Amino acid sequence: MHELVGTCEACGKDVFCQNGFLNGVSEGGKLLCFECADGDDRGDRPQSEEQK
Ligand SMILES: [Zn+2]
Repeated sequence: MHELVGTCEACGKDVFCQNGFLNGVSEGGKLLCFECADGDDRGDRPQSEEQK
């Protein structure tokens, strides 16, 4: 079963809670889907080899 928690602050996509597992990230009162939470993270990760 899944339950609508809210919509992503960045892209407006619905964020669900599935079997107690949140389908996104809740940060400082903001709700983000995994894609936006991931893409928002800039410059903070070590440089890795580029995929070709
Ligand atoms: Zn999003």
